[in-house]
Amino acid sequence: QKKTEIQERSISLNYSEEVTDVDLSSEQRDIVRVIENSLVAERFETFLLHGITGSGKTQIYIEAIRKTLELNKQAIVLIPEIVLTPQTLVRFQYYFGDQVGIIHSRLSAGEKREMLHRIRRGDFRVVIGPRSAIFAPVSHLGLVVVDEEHEGSYKQTDAQPRYHARDVAVLRARLNKAVVILGSATPSFESLYNVQQGLYKYFRLGKRITQRSLPRISLVDLREEWKKGGSYPVVSESLELKLESRLLTHEQAMILQNRRGYSPFIMCQECGFVSKCPECEITLTYHQANHSLICHYCGYREKAPDVCPVCHGMDIVYRGIGTQRLEEVLNENFAGCRILRMDQDTTRGKHGHLNLLEKFRRGDADILLGTKMIAKGLDFQKVTLVGIVSADQGLHFPDFRASEKVFQLLTQAAGRAGRGSGSGEVVVQTFDPSHFIFKYLMTHDYQAFFEKEMASRKSLKYPPFSRLVLIRLEGKELPVVEQHAQAVASFLWKANKNRLYTVLGPAPSPIAKIQQIYRYQILIKQDKEKDPSLNYVRHILKEGLIRKNNIRNWPVNVIIDVDPMEIL
Ligand SMILES: [Zn+2]
Ligand SMILES: [Zn+2]
Repeated sequence: QKKTEIQERSISLNYSEEVTDVDLSSEQRDIVRVIENSLVAERFETFLLHGITGSGKTQIYIEAIRKTLELNKQAIVLIPEIVLTPQTLVRFQYYFGDQVGIIHSRLSAGEKREMLHRIRRGDFRVVIGPRSAIFAPVSHLGLVVVDEEHEGSYKQTDAQPRYHARDVAVLRARLNKAVVILGSATPSFESLYNVQQGLYKYFRLGKRITQRSLPRISLVDLREEWKKGGSYPVVSESLELKLESRLLTHEQAMILQNRRGYSPFIMCQECGFVSKCPECEITLTYHQANHSLICHYCGYREKAPDVCPVCHGMDIVYRGIGTQRLEEVLNENFAGCRILRMDQDTTRGKHGHLNLLEKFRRGDADILLGTKMIAKGLDFQKVTLVGIVSADQGLHFPDFRASEKVFQLLTQAAGRAGRGSGSGEVVVQTFDPSHFIFKYLMTHDYQAFFEKEMASRKSLKYPPFSRLVLIRLEGKELPVVEQHAQAVASFLWKANKNRLYTVLGPAPSPIAKIQQIYRYQILIKQDKEKDPSLNYVRHILKEGLIRKNNIRNWPVNVIIDVDPMEIL
């Protein structure tokens, strides 16, 4: 055993943890051998490594990197959110020490320039970073690892170019005759589909390294709880009992509620008034600190009203559960229990995340509650219970990927339980226990879930069976935005004489207004069988829309996003 610490100024991470050398299982060894063969042969190949939570995917990356360095080549490792996964970084540093260069989203512009300069000079043989690290100037690329490849953050959505780092990884590897490893416990449907199409090779890691089985998952029907108590509990009786027993035995628990703030909205009981952001068409979230209402899209804040601004009624209620409210309820129910809350509001400082994680790992807290931040890649040996407060959240989003995303989040969260010597348990609270995703969640059957979802995507012709192009129009005046959206749609209809694609919309975006800017959108759905590379659509957008119609001079902003990950 050797202790490794990440404490380099340019990395800005302060986190240390024991790393233990591990022996590969025979399952892992077989996979490593196949990957090594491709590396030695300099054969471009993409491997999808589908390993259940806690199955030791990182160790496979490490072996593959070791081989890459032996062959005098370099590796790029993509990690979705680097501050959230200090444990993974510690392990890479343990094995590769000074050869590791980390590109970090919190580096200053100067630090980043320096980093890129050093990479170009060849100071680092392993470059780790978020999506932009895929462009790192390494000259002898042998291997690209994309960890948690299903993560939406690999797609750049807020600025040009709107690339997906996973696609760039595959492209770059092909040009360099390099190897790609895409790893996940819940692979994206795009990647699983590419396996079916014979484009990627598939590996499955089906055993946890500790020999423990996957955690047992039980459902709590919140409607039944309501019948019992006359209200919807934040923490159901079943979850409460299980938490109590963990506190007695000094084990730890994690509780997921993917909503920050106190209450997602406040409402007047008398007239139904709901406070909305004046800049965006978004409900304001109540935060207890300063008794304020905050817009989670633009940051607008105001004092929470004591009387209804419309009818002057006094009966204002707080609806829904945010992490602050959950913290309050837990504090009330478990006096003396040490609770940490991890969300955007508690992790503002440079080391905010790390301090919390370090505290929890040391055992200075019994319960870690938080938003989806806590669901990702963390490995705490003493956690034997995971609670999910509102599992339905997000399930009814107007997005064809809604159930895929929820399933991934729930599986990842559940996977935090029972990673050490104690077996794990997960309590899932839901209003809709008959929803099909729970059947697959409880049996840990990602493959069956994938097949069921694929059947419905196929019949609706959604990706991966089609490709989408999202065209969004943004402007200050609603009629102008509407009128131009209509013009784009008419153009697309006219250009579609051969019925190559389908046009959906124009319609207001699900988030119809952000910071005084109105948003409209049009979706082009291109059947893959007719034009898999979107050649025709690209052509008409470029020649017809952008050049002939001269959209750059329009009074609205037109954004074109090919293969969007979000259609909000
Ligand atoms: Zn009112
Ligand atoms: Zn706002």
